[in-house]
Formats: sequence, structure tokens, C-alpha cells
Amino acid sequence: MLIDEDILIDCGSGVGDLTLDQLAKVRHVFLTHSHLDHVAFLPLLVDSIFERIDQPIVVHALPATIQALKEHIFNWAIWPDFAQLPVVSKPVMAYMEHSAGDVCIVDGRKIKSISMNHIVPTVGYRVESAEGASFAFTGDTTTNDTFWDELNSHPRLDLLLLEVAFSNAYEELSNTARHYCSNTMVADLIKLKLNPEIYLTHHKPEENNVIIAEIKQSLPGRGIKQLHNNQTFSL
Ligand SMILES: [Zn+2]
Ligand SMILES: [Zn+2]
Repeated sequence: MLIDEDILIDCGSGVGDLTLDQLAKVRHVFLTHSHLDHVAFLPLLVDSIFERIDQPIVVHALPATIQALKEHIFNWAIWPDFAQLPVVSKPVMAYMEHSAGDVCIVDGRKIKSISMNHIVPTVGYRVESAEGASFAFTGDTTTNDTFWDELNSHPRLDLLLLEVAFSNAYEELSNTARHYCSNTMVADLIKLKLNPEIYLTHHKPEENNVIIAEIKQSLPGRGIKQLHNNQTFSL
């Protein structure tokens, strides 16, 4: 997810749709967690803009996420350690650890990380512009109170992007993998006291229509929609 021109939340396959000029404008990457569908394009991103930037791209993440990147991806075996290249004193990528609950302000935009409930340490994010517009993104998670309590502690939320990986036919699997299914999402969505636009994402292939139909049936008043590739929002 690209915010303005310079901030990415996660770095999955959608980053492959950006042009080289767009990639070179990215200054910050906020990761939700270490799973491959959320970090897969980070190695290619830093490699492709290697010669075009003066300051390192800052990768903001939980300590466990950064540790996983260092151990399993930027380990010279899978990919070079770009936190040391081209020279240690002036690398193309720099890590910035944060804890759940921290707020990072980037040129007036407040990015708050929120503890989630996934199979590895994971945060969601609530992002607020200098003008007070806001959106939130769950990252990968199953049922929790932290995210919904955080959203309800603010008077305004314009846009909400939610993962629902599985339809109700796979409820048991969704609990094992700590993802939402339609039932657990509905049970959590009714905690929300605000009325943002809501888009669903991160479905298993072929599950899109079933998930959206199940959730709409349970929450007909919410106006829930499907998130599409290359969709843009102005807040
Ligand atoms: Zn995951
Ligand atoms: Zn995922």
C-alpha cells in the first residue's frame, strides 16, 4: 500500500506494479510482519533503486520482523545485506525498530503501530494526515481487541482496510493460521463505533465472492466492498 508517494505499508507483489520513478520516491517502508506475501518485493525494491537515492530507505518494523529479514532474506545467501551496501557508512536501506503502540511521524503524517493477533509478531497501522483524515489497515490477524479499541479511541476514521483470508468453510484453518474468516470478522466489526468506508482484502484465491457475500449478509448496513489492485483513495 502506497501512501502519498513516499511511504509503503508492506512490500508485497503489488509493489511490482510501480514504475522505477515511483519506486525511487519511496523513503519509508512500514512492515506489518515477516511473512513472504508482505516482504517479497523489499529485496527487489532496494536493488532496483540502488543508484538513484541519496538517503537510505528506512524499514520500520518490530524487532522480530527485522530479525527475520536479516536471518532469512538479507543474509547474502538469498539476497545481499543492503543495510551494508554499497558501503556500511552509507547504505541503501536502514532498519528502524518500533514497538506496538509507537507513533512515527513522517512529514506530518502520524503512523501508529497496533499489536495484532497473528502466528508471528504482527502490527496493524492507523495513519492520520496532518489535516486529520485517517485510515487503518489490519495487516494479518485474527480476532483481537487491540485494533478495535485503538480505532474507537479516536473520533474519526475515514477508511478501513481489513484482511479476511478465509470463508466460513475454513473457519478452523483460519483459527490455526490466525487469520480472520467471515464469522470472526463480523464478530469483531460490530465492536467498531465509527462508520468508515470498509474494504476487504487478503483473500485466498477463489474465495473473494464467498467472503464478501457472507459478511454482507451478516452486516447488510455496513456497505462493505472488495479492495482491488491499483485502487486509489483520496482522504
Ligand atoms: Zn501472515
Ligand atoms: Zn499475509
